[in-house]
Amino acid sequence: MSENWKHAVFYQIYPRSFLDTTGNGVGDLKGITQKLEYVAGLGVDGIWISPFFKSPMKDYGYDVSDYRDIDPLFGTLADFDELIAKAHDLDLQIIIDLVLSHTSDQHPWFSDPSKKDWYVWADAKADGSPPNNWVSIFGGSAWEWSAHHHQYYLHNFLREQPDLNFHNPEVQEEALNIMRFWLDRGVDAFRLDVVNFFFHDQQLRNNPPRPKELGAATQFEGDDPYSQQQHIYDKSQPENLEFLSRMRAVMDEYDNRFTVGEIGDDHPYKMAVEYTAGNNRLHTTYNPQMMSGAQKNLTADIIRTPIEEFSTQANTLKGGHPAWAFSNHDVVRAASRWLANSDGFSHNPQCSKMLNALLLTLDGTIFLYQGEELGLPEAKLTFEQLQDPWGIHLWPEWQGRDGCRTPIPWSKSTPQNQWLPVPTSHLQLNAEDQGKDQNSVLNFTRNFLKWRKTQPALTHGTIAFKDTGDDTKLAFTRKHADQTLYCSFDLRNYTYEITEK
Ligand code: BGC
Repeated sequence: MSENWKHAVFYQIYPRSFLDTTGNGVGDLKGITQKLEYVAGLGVDGIWISPFFKSPMKDYGYDVSDYRDIDPLFGTLADFDELIAKAHDLDLQIIIDLVLSHTSDQHPWFSDPSKKDWYVWADAKADGSPPNNWVSIFGGSAWEWSAHHHQYYLHNFLREQPDLNFHNPEVQEEALNIMRFWLDRGVDAFRLDVVNFFFHDQQLRNNPPRPKELGAATQFEGDDPYSQQQHIYDKSQPENLEFLSRMRAVMDEYDNRFTVGEIGDDHPYKMAVEYTAGNNRLHTTYNPQMMSGAQKNLTADIIRTPIEEFSTQANTLKGGHPAWAFSNHDVVRAASRWLANSDGFSHNPQCSKMLNALLLTLDGTIFLYQGEELGLPEAKLTFEQLQDPWGIHLWPEWQGRDGCRTPIPWSKSTPQNQWLPVPTSHLQLNAEDQGKDQNSVLNFTRNFLKWRKTQPALTHGTIAFKDTGDDTKLAFTRKHADQTLYCSFDLRNYTYEITEK
């Protein structure tokens, strides 16, 4: 099988905020299709599209009410077929986002009495309180009372996102059939949302308190209740490994398809390698360690530690392939999160260029989030403009997840009044004008991506870090066959050098 995905760069599209072609203020599939030449022109190898399935949008598509249909806000299955055909004509691979760990509470399965065991139900304790101490990532108990069933159901995320019960073989079968449905339509890959949350402990044991040295339990900012527990029973159960093999068997029924699993766990590298070792589980995992809220200023360790720890595990367990990203739709944009000594909401082209060069120089599959090619900083929104109230709890200092989700400024005349506003400061960074400016972040990123393709050490090489004795200076070599590139980054002055040895 082709292993092109190992050397590839994928561009993440958050469909609500890409391009709106209907004027309703929400991006759609036709908008993605219209901009595929732009995406191909960046020089990336494919796109990951965040969920576009039918959904009540409580978590903006990560709450699915029909896995085999497109939400009318985004278009139709015919629009998707058109999108995929054009993407393939342009040599772009398509990764879609499968959210299998939970559904929407509006999914017909959730109210179907014959499918009650497709979800996780449990009796209240004698005093009426929830069955155990598990908490939701979005806050509060992970259990919601149902007056109808006189029982609690489990939700690791919002109460409108009940967890599926993967211990039930029918749920497993259905998940595999959903994969076949999309593979038959021609998708190249799945990003598997929270892939280590599929199974829970069937005895529903309490999570123990969290040892201090483990740090936060998510990549988010919080000193939140979720980070007070060690999550050994509510997720990351050993049964998942066997199910991942079943998923792999389905993928192998088709040519050249792959999976990218999103993992959130206290032992992320060990798990990432376990989930990808051998040829019988996932192909790669999407590792969030470089997107942690605890990282204020960019230091060499933020980049070096995850890559080295992954590779230590990979050497021990013999296998595994990582994927890295600096930004996505859940975290504060890297250009803001890491911009030392500033309010964080301003554009700094030099910093953005260096960050893009750094990301594209790392060893692994790379994910570039929409807007990073323009050097967009986090958008500053007022409280009244926020749409994702739960996000506040995840990123208290940055008003939640909306600031990284504002629509792409395509031109000076992109409507500002969309589902989230396009800040005036972003309009000034619009893609059309940047396209005409040879010094823009956009043209820099395009040129860098094109050049990267011609450098085997960057696409296929190993990585070895150098000690610089200074945490603001990062240096490493990338090496493949007879090419060695020496890469050094000054993380405070935003300069870098890549030289051939
Ligand atoms: C997605 C989030 C979503 C959560 C629950 C995450 O990994 O990236 O946007 O809220 O899963 O589905």
